[in-house]
Amino acid sequence: MKTFNYHVPKNVKEASKLASTSSAFLAGGMTSVPSMKLGLATYKDIIDIKHIKKLSGIKVSGKTVTIGATTKHAEVANSRDVKKAIPSLTKLAGGIGDAQVRNRGTVGGSIANNDPSACYPSACMALNAIIHTNNRKIEASKFFKGMFETALKKGELIEAVEFQIPVKSNYQKHPNPASRYAIVGVYLAKHKKEVNVAVTGAKSSVYIDKDLSKALSSSFSSSAIDGMKLDSSEMNSDIHASGDFRASLVVTYAKKAVEAC
Ligand SMILES: Cc1cc2nc3c(=O)[nH]c(=O)nc-3n(C[C@H](O)[C@H](O)[C@H](O)COP(=O)(O)OP(=O)(O)OC[C@H]3O[C@@H](n4cnc5c(N)ncnc54)[C@H](O)[C@@H]3O)c2cc1C
Repeated sequence: MKTFNYHVPKNVKEASKLASTSSAFLAGGMTSVPSMKLGLATYKDIIDIKHIKKLSGIKVSGKTVTIGATTKHAEVANSRDVKKAIPSLTKLAGGIGDAQVRNRGTVGGSIANNDPSACYPSACMALNAIIHTNNRKIEASKFFKGMFETALKKGELIEAVEFQIPVKSNYQKHPNPASRYAIVGVYLAKHKKEVNVAVTGAKSSVYIDKDLSKALSSSFSSSAIDGMKLDSSEMNSDIHASGDFRASLVVTYAKKAVEAC
């Protein structure tokens, strides 16, 4: 690992001021630290945001659940308030990695990293989340731009993620047996007016499957999507699963999610 400057800013303003093209924020360190150790990433400045109180915590209001950026997966998984409002979100958080990862990794780090197999981006998309940064509010549909790419600008810090409470929802994942990242993950949310089926792991970045969402918006039953064939041409193909297999997994897990609602 190369040497770097380590900063512990007192507040968001200070953290953002320290940021440059060769810096990284340190939240849980579950991605940034291994990347640095393996030489995949090198930073001049590491800006530790874990001690900024404003960035952590969970708030449930009538229509939304707002989770601070440095809130750990384990805190979400164990939150009674989140479980009552959006049980699928506690299920998602409780299924991330292992106990060590869940006790370090954070919501903000997960979505800022936008790994194509990460679980939280699918929750953001399905639950019409708003990403609050130190400068603006970004709709989830405009936040995830591509593989490991988001709408965040240099020095822009995620402060919190605001999820819309759905009528019903469920998350189903076909996990990588080693890491638990999603080979395919399907987050289904039934809102008053529409159904969103968000998919992670299948393509280069999270997306809403329009065909599944449309079919389930018309008829919210697993028979409405039974036998549906998805286009696999843009799906990931690797040692874990071919594109065709992923396409069939998306439908299978969407059906499971409907049945579990
Ligand atoms: C073994 C293992 C298994 C895992 N399994 C899963 C899984 O099953 N599902 C899943 O979804 N994830 C999984 N993860 C990912 C993990 O849960 C973390 O969410 C992820 O590694 C990044 O979060 P972090 O808080 O550790 O971020 P860090 O590693 O600290 O930071 C990652 C990146 O995000 C940026 N960043 C962090 N916080 C902010 C912020 N507030 N604003 C702007 N940018 C920010 C940093 O600059 C850095 O570039 C796994 C990780 C490991 C190591």
